[in-house]
Amino acid sequence: MRIDLHAHSAISDGTDTPAGVVLRARDLGIDVLALTDHDTFDGLPEALACGTTVGVRVVRGVEVSCTLLGSSVHLVGYGPREEDEDLAEELRRIRQGRSGRVPAMLAKLHQLGYPLTMAEVEAQVGDSPSVGRPHIADALVAKGFFPDRNAVFDSLLADGGPAFVDRYAPDVRHALRLLRAAGAATVLAHPWGRGSRRVLDETVLASLAHDYGLDGIEVDHTDHDESTRAELRAIAERVGLLVTGSSDYHGAGKRDNELGCNLTDPLVFHALMDVVSTRGGRP
Ligand code: AMP
Ligand code: FE
Ligand code: FE
Ligand code: ZN
Repeated sequence: MRIDLHAHSAISDGTDTPAGVVLRARDLGIDVLALTDHDTFDGLPEALACGTTVGVRVVRGVEVSCTLLGSSVHLVGYGPREEDEDLAEELRRIRQGRSGRVPAMLAKLHQLGYPLTMAEVEAQVGDSPSVGRPHIADALVAKGFFPDRNAVFDSLLADGGPAFVDRYAPDVRHALRLLRAAGAATVLAHPWGRGSRRVLDETVLASLAHDYGLDGIEVDHTDHDESTRAELRAIAERVGLLVTGSSDYHGAGKRDNELGCNLTDPLVFHALMDVVSTRGGRP
């Protein structure tokens, strides 16, 4: 069984429609696919309907943008009750923070010699309920300033980069409480990707697991090399965390993240779905 538990559609910052992601999963022989758009559930109905039609099991997911000790950390929830008002309210707040600082980033870009209008950014947003850095990057690519999204992040938009402006994100411990209360199983996405290793050492991971009920960590991910994966696997074993593997597919928006490039063990998937059932979520 091929199980991929982390993928994005154009409802956040991927480039395929939700149904398009599911169709691609079917074409690649994937049996179980979680749609985990950033901070929104808006893509789930279309993905679930398409999955029913083409025979791919679609899992409800969301990737919540969080912080821990000043670093950006991503927490994936599986099977939340989307109507949970506390979770929905927090996701709205995150989305508003993301969109709200776009004018400040456009001002910085202007000063740096990359003039860009809000209309040019909005042309890249599609059906996403918030506007973020990936859309700004796409607009700069569309104007011919850079060859692809990654190049824009590398020169301008990465955390702390010359055109970066910070935004609201909840502490990961608060997001863990909200997701669990909404019935979700929780997995830290790419815990040692992009500098978050500094804040997510074994002591912190153990505390998130034992004191805040974190269920797993995403170990097999393109942001982790082989030795990183081995270290994380050993920590997960000692601390008692489930280990997942996923693509973090973004369509044309990310290199090296094809659907199914990393997979999750079926036993782990079933353990996660058992957690969702126990918490009253939607497996
Ligand atoms: P935002 O929510 O507007 O701050 O944008 C964050 C999103 O941009 C993340 O969810 C990633 O998809 C993407 N992103 C962040 N940092 C990088 C990076 N260094 N390289 C490529 N994509 C990135
Ligand atoms: Fe993303
Ligand atoms: Fe992420
Ligand atoms: Zn992701």
